[in-house]
Amino acid sequence: MPIVMKFGGTSVQDTEAFIRVSSIVEIEKENSPVVVTSAMAKVTDALIHAFEIARKGNSEEAFRVLEEHFQRHQKVSQDLLDRNQQEKFEQELDFARQELKDLLARVARRSLPLSMLKDAIVSYGEQLSSRLLTEVLTAKGLNAFHIDARRLIVTDDEFGAANPIWEETRDLIRLELLPLLDAGKIPVLGGFIAANRSGETTTLGRGGSDYSAALVGAAIEAKEIQIWTDVTGVLTCDPRICPEARTLKTLSYEEAAELAYFGAKVLHPKTIQPAVDLQIPVRVCNSHKPQEPGTMILPSSQSTPRKVKSIAYKKGITVLRITSARMLGAFGFMSAIFQIFERYRTVIDVVATSEVSVSLTLDNISALDGIVKELERIGKVEVEHGNAVVCVVGSGLRETAGVAAQIFKAIADFNISLISHGASSVNLTFVVKEEFVADVVKRLHDEFFAFKEETAQTSNKYASDNV
Ligand code: ADP
Ligand code: ASP
Ligand code: MG
Repeated sequence: MPIVMKFGGTSVQDTEAFIRVSSIVEIEKENSPVVVTSAMAKVTDALIHAFEIARKGNSEEAFRVLEEHFQRHQKVSQDLLDRNQQEKFEQELDFARQELKDLLARVARRSLPLSMLKDAIVSYGEQLSSRLLTEVLTAKGLNAFHIDARRLIVTDDEFGAANPIWEETRDLIRLELLPLLDAGKIPVLGGFIAANRSGETTTLGRGGSDYSAALVGAAIEAKEIQIWTDVTGVLTCDPRICPEARTLKTLSYEEAAELAYFGAKVLHPKTIQPAVDLQIPVRVCNSHKPQEPGTMILPSSQSTPRKVKSIAYKKGITVLRITSARMLGAFGFMSAIFQIFERYRTVIDVVATSEVSVSLTLDNISALDGIVKELERIGKVEVEHGNAVVCVVGSGLRETAGVAAQIFKAIADFNISLISHGASSVNLTFVVKEEFVADVVKRLHDEFFAFKEETAQTSNKYASDNV
């Protein structure tokens, strides 16, 4: 049974990173690996930046900002490839330069829909990194074979956040990859990029290479999907907020999905679903410390004595409150509201209701004006920007007396709203003002994970714990 190894942007950011990746792949070479790579770190951001500059009309300046990134690819090629390979890769690079120049000029001229051009532009990050990685693995003596992910993953036309069409995608992946694996080859493909049925390039949303890896893993029924990144596994909290955060040994699919959805960037929110359907373990590991086991995400995992396993948060959240006394006791209120969001293709994250009002949170407010106008026909609408959702995750949270009290006691001096507890058995979610979110998360992390001295000395109650 094959495995899928996905390397994130920082895992392929420079020559040293490519060397590390090729050693990690070499160790797994007998396990039929399929390699999925992100763009080199910062390249997708640069491509988006270039697109934005071109949109304002200056396509030459837009093209110029990309040059340093072309050179980063070239440097890796010069450091690690033999002459023939360097020439081959430089041809690819020149081709990419020309194509990007042309695409950026089209953006300035608006000669095609911008969302379509944007995906074509940002796809070059993964197109180049995957070709470069194929050559680097070949130089290491591995039987690597580049394959264009746009031939494998078929999506709808939702440029920027396209949705794969599963049956077609699965069949194509199997058709293309299984014969390569049978022939002892190591397929290498870019994550994040795909194509719609007309063959136009689409992308799966920021961080979407994880999702590509999961789709490939599910299609070929992989033994394991490995997500190689710059931290050792899924941690008890975002290490940028809590540097002392610790690695979780295991997580259930359900726990991982909640964490990813509510902001733990280490996994793309859609990654888990393809793995769930086929019960494929997902391992998150650190390409800087490959000897460490990282985190295993499995169909189920045990709850821990402290119940809370990890804390995630998502900023930039807008809260909407809809109040309508006319709706007291009337049915159809909720349905009328939700239909509006459906029409505007806007996802609601957290909902809290009372008899006459509904409060809900939105992440994407691109259709807010239209939504508010329609909601105003139902009742009074208040819009409040600048919020954050905090999500405390751990199986058994719902069933365990006292955990909710412990959570809210720890942050009693903060104003919290929109509490959702019990909808899922593994999470407790609430909203705070954005400016307090770091303090709230730190406080909770201290409450549940600080290794207090008295704990170390007087009890080993966490001895069987997960972290
Ligand atoms: P990659 O480029 O490898 O896909 P990402 O930047 O997308 O990496 O995700 C890894 C980052 O996710 C980490 O560097 C860390 O800052 C952030 N992160 C946020 N929450 C968590 C968490 N709970 N556990 C691990 N990492 C987290
Ligand atoms: N390169 C893309 C991004 O930066 C996809 C990914 O890295 O997963 O969002
Ligand atoms: Mg990522």
